[in-house]
Amino acid sequence: MSAVILETQLSDSRKADSRKDRVQVHEIYCSIQGETSFVGVPCAFVRTSKCNLRCRWCDTPDAFHSGTLLSVDDVVARALAFETPLVLVTGGEPLLQPSVLPLLSRFCESGRTVLLETSGERDIAAVDPRVHRIVDFKAPGSGESNRNRWENVACLGPRDEVKFVLADRADYDWARERICEHQLSRRAGTVLMSPVWGELEPRELVSWVLADRLEARVQLQTHKYIWGAEAQGV
Ligand code: SF4
Repeated sequence: MSAVILETQLSDSRKADSRKDRVQVHEIYCSIQGETSFVGVPCAFVRTSKCNLRCRWCDTPDAFHSGTLLSVDDVVARALAFETPLVLVTGGEPLLQPSVLPLLSRFCESGRTVLLETSGERDIAAVDPRVHRIVDFKAPGSGESNRNRWENVACLGPRDEVKFVLADRADYDWARERICEHQLSRRAGTVLMSPVWGELEPRELVSWVLADRLEARVQLQTHKYIWGAEAQGV
């Protein structure tokens, strides 16, 4: 079934509140997971609105302000209706909204495999332990590396994944040092390294990882290769 047909269009821009039972959502749609160790698996995406960072290369700025305020029940129903084995809650920054914590638990109770993609800036300690947390620590090229919350490292477990998006060699060197300093390959199940689309050639990143025999997984943003760099909701 086409992801375009399945896409749920959400365009209202009402202001979010902090009530526990409502989530401001930018879009809900079905596609394959484009990244992480679950790449290629059919997935229901819940993209929440709002982000408190402004990464230089952000590819979802539309999520900063727009969105529809939905009940947790409604979000769960819309996402589970896609009947995918995987559910991903991403953003924006999902953990800015307190209601995302019970939302994640509701998805876990459905029996689906649940992923959360979050910047390294929010505290991840309260996230349901059944969730696979993808923690996207920010490299200097993002302009937001001073916002990383390194206390999150102590919370990581084998089902969690750490991700570094890298713009250049300086970013790579910085990430390699953080992997070593925080023993991330031991603490998390997977360490991911992604090149910034259009800025760092994947083959360059691969050559650096190989030269260092780094315990990390190079990943590409598969959805961009399939649908193009500008496509949203696929
Ligand atoms: S944390 Fe994510 S959504 Fe927020 S600015 Fe950075 S890349 Fe964009």
